[in-house]
Amino acid sequence: MSNTNTVLTIPEPRKVALKRMPYPKIVPGYVMVKVEIAPICIEHQVYKAHRMEWHSDCDHQGHEGVGIICEVTPGSKLKIGERVVMYQGDPCGECFVCQRQLSPTHCMSIPYEELTDTQRPDAKIDALGGIEAQYMPGGLRIIEKKCDSESGGFGFVQYRILQECMVQKIPDSLPFRYAALANCSIGCTYTGIEECGVKKDDWVVIAGVGFIGFGAIINAKYRGANVIVLGRNDFRMAQARRMGADHIVNPDDPDWLEQIHALTGYLKGADHVFEASGYPYYQNKALAAVRRFGNVWLYGFLVEDSEPLPIRLLDVIHNRGVHLSGNHDVHVKHREGLIKMLQNPQVQAWADHLITHEYNMSEAAEAFEAALSKKAGKIFLYPHENCPKSGPIKNV
Ligand SMILES: [Zn+2]
Ligand SMILES: [Zn+2]
Repeated sequence: MSNTNTVLTIPEPRKVALKRMPYPKIVPGYVMVKVEIAPICIEHQVYKAHRMEWHSDCDHQGHEGVGIICEVTPGSKLKIGERVVMYQGDPCGECFVCQRQLSPTHCMSIPYEELTDTQRPDAKIDALGGIEAQYMPGGLRIIEKKCDSESGGFGFVQYRILQECMVQKIPDSLPFRYAALANCSIGCTYTGIEECGVKKDDWVVIAGVGFIGFGAIINAKYRGANVIVLGRNDFRMAQARRMGADHIVNPDDPDWLEQIHALTGYLKGADHVFEASGYPYYQNKALAAVRRFGNVWLYGFLVEDSEPLPIRLLDVIHNRGVHLSGNHDVHVKHREGLIKMLQNPQVQAWADHLITHEYNMSEAAEAFEAALSKKAGKIFLYPHENCPKSGPIKNV
């Protein structure tokens, strides 16, 4: 058994390093996983601007992954050697969100309302009550503290620790590379598409497409919807077509909305619109593109320096009967359907266009640069330095 754990750190903007940390420890209720693939989510933004999420820091990055269980505590129902997907968060298990099998990153133990009370600029400090924000319950940073471990709480590690309820066994026939999409690409978008009730022949607009938008396209096509992508990056639009997108509309065209109305006919807008960028430019257009009584679902968030979108609720929502919602994680109750979907051969064929690059964890700088190039979909890191072939994947 290894007695160290190699973790990725981002000590300063545009710089990465590997750090050797003590091997992790677990307590009952937790499990240890040898990480096979750790997908990149928003960490290229941390690499670029060094702006952290509330629970992360330089030495604690990444939250997605798949791997093999390598340590359990006595009495655990999980077994060493089982292949699993790892989900993000450290939920309480007792609140109504957890009891109803909703997304763990929306567990009531995370006081989002207090942390984001814009009426009171000092709310963040009050809410913390002297505890550093990083160690708030529900986030990943507290996992190491609860396990009295010096490493393993985040995703960019060789050995990761997490609650037993945050791993899901995967069938032997499901390759890790597809299972890894159960996190923030096909996974988090599965929940939005499912909650909106997208079905065969529905009109779906997906606005602001990166790897989240790609996941939404695949989910919508899997359910047989007509997909219109609102986007303008040539590389991404070509990829979107390979993932089954039926129509591409350039949001910079003066008549972009007329184009959507022409496609959707008497509905005069899409049944469901998914916003995947977090930019007000696309949020505005998402609200305009939906039909009356349609759904708008927000996936995009954490966009640096963007002003909140002012909307006139009466005009945009109320008079038009629009349903507006969003979240950024997989509901627990959706995990079974998600793993079934990832075993579908057509989904895997589309996914081969979604996964564009793979790198060893030691090559993370190249991986982050690829993500920042905007000529990428989902990018995988291999923490054990066993990446089949580093760089862009050939079929891209
Ligand atoms: Zn909870
Ligand atoms: Zn993610």
